[in-house]
Amino acid sequence: MQFREYGGDREVEALIALMAKLPGLGPRSARRAVIKMIEKRKIILEPLAQILGSVSEKITECVECGNFSTEEVCCICSDDERQSSIMCIVQDVADLWAMERSNVFKGIYHVLGNYSSIYSGINPEELKVDKIRNRLEKEHVEEVILALDATINGQTTAHYLIEKLQDTGAKFSSLAHGVPVGGELDYLDDGTIRAAFTARKNL
Ligand SMILES: [Zn+2]
Repeated sequence: MQFREYGGDREVEALIALMAKLPGLGPRSARRAVIKMIEKRKIILEPLAQILGSVSEKITECVECGNFSTEEVCCICSDDERQSSIMCIVQDVADLWAMERSNVFKGIYHVLGNYSSIYSGINPEELKVDKIRNRLEKEHVEEVILALDATINGQTTAHYLIEKLQDTGAKFSSLAHGVPVGGELDYLDDGTIRAAFTARKNL
């Protein structure tokens, strides 16, 4: 008989193994989550399976800003009420969502996404500097807020972007973090983000 790590069925084990790869979930919490899902089959497992299928089929990156979206252009970029003269550049989608949760910013975004760390050298193509430049020009952006992590990598990236984009005429500012170096935006509470936004400093 084949060894069963969790004492469960092969497919259930595969589900647990996948769940355990999620941030914040180790094997133990993945097991508990899966057991709960199965126990609550009608109200958790079945709707979850359905929505996972639907998200997996439709989710993509917004062609404008890089936010996750089930449409080609996300709900922020297609919202006429947003102020396109002010752009916030964030490291990843979690940071964009953190800014949105704080409800302080009404402009547009650009998500940098994955790129090599400064230790292996910044590659302008990976950072999509030309794409940012095109959008700054197209939207007549007047202020760029660099809401990057207070890490060496985040701050070096900020300086690099300013150097490459300062000829666009946009004014650059950064969040006044007020958090320990290494703090990531997504871990800040809404009040801290609002304060950091209001006290943002020109660069
Ligand atoms: Zn977008």
